[in-house]
Amino acid sequence: MSGIPCHYYDGRTSRRHDAVLALTARGGLVIACEGADERLNYEDVRIPGRVADTPRYLHLPDGGVCEVQDNDALDGEQARTRRDPEPRADRFGRLRHRLDSTWRGAAAALAVTAAILYSFTEWGAPAVATVAVAATPPEVEAVIGENFLTLLEQLRLLKPSELEPNRRNELLAAFEEMRRETGVEDADLRFHSVGVPNAFALPGGTVVLTDSLVELAEDDEEVIAVLAHELGHVSGRHVMRRFAQTSSMLVLWTAFTGDVSVATLSFLGPDRLLAQRYSRSFENDADRFAFDYLLSAGIPPTRLSDIIQRLSGADREAGTSAGGNALDWLASHPGAAERARNATEAAKRAREGAAADE
Ligand SMILES: [Zn+2]
Repeated sequence: MSGIPCHYYDGRTSRRHDAVLALTARGGLVIACEGADERLNYEDVRIPGRVADTPRYLHLPDGGVCEVQDNDALDGEQARTRRDPEPRADRFGRLRHRLDSTWRGAAAALAVTAAILYSFTEWGAPAVATVAVAATPPEVEAVIGENFLTLLEQLRLLKPSELEPNRRNELLAAFEEMRRETGVEDADLRFHSVGVPNAFALPGGTVVLTDSLVELAEDDEEVIAVLAHELGHVSGRHVMRRFAQTSSMLVLWTAFTGDVSVATLSFLGPDRLLAQRYSRSFENDADRFAFDYLLSAGIPPTRLSDIIQRLSGADREAGTSAGGNALDWLASHPGAAERARNATEAAKRAREGAAADE
């Protein structure tokens, strides 16, 4: 019996066995491996379609896998032993193979794939996120946030705050007033030490403020400006929407590549989650929320851009780039210059509005 050289994995260990695969005219499939043959029914074995000259993995009913490099030989064996001249699935396989075999076909397939990925990223993922977040009860979101905080503490990414209790109480009072004034329920402020200036919102409404940011701020107005921006993220449930967008991208990525491990690593490491940027529209929403509150509290919106500029300076001095440190506020908040412009414009509009009222 002639056969196709292949590699056989038994599904229990990672050991690779050299083997020979053969299809029989009676609808059987034989894998001969180190003297022990495995005889299977052809129908029970999932043989994937050909993708150019990449190896094919035949999934066996007992969990084993057979890796075949020689696609021509496998196609030939299938053609030789096939009783059904051309099943539908195979016609699709041939179309796919034709697309893979010419550069025009491959380029067209790549363009279609890119278009699908782009459309989903641009419109699909935000739409999925809106629906998913609307369906997520606040209690569930709170548990997610609490678990995430615990994880950050366990990984020693967050350490206990060393701020004076009085200082913390002053800021807590300011945050509570802001929360009440803006009508955002379920928001709370926690202090931690990270070694870099940062403030960020978690699912469920917890805002984390780091000691370094408080120390970097010239006065309370700057801290309140940053907290107002983060409360804007809480109000819009941006963290959960970002999580949902990331998750739906993960599903799509896995569907396209068939590889969940790389996708999980690249999307869902705890530091990666923190470093991910909010979308520009989330940032603008949070800024608008902050500017509105600051104006109502008699604080110039430019206090937000003031501290952002100071953060940029501290960032340069520390020698880290904006993307360099996952726990850096700037790393997750791009566009310092644009934000400064928006703050100045918001202040100007407020002045003009006040002048028109007089
Ligand atoms: Zn933000």
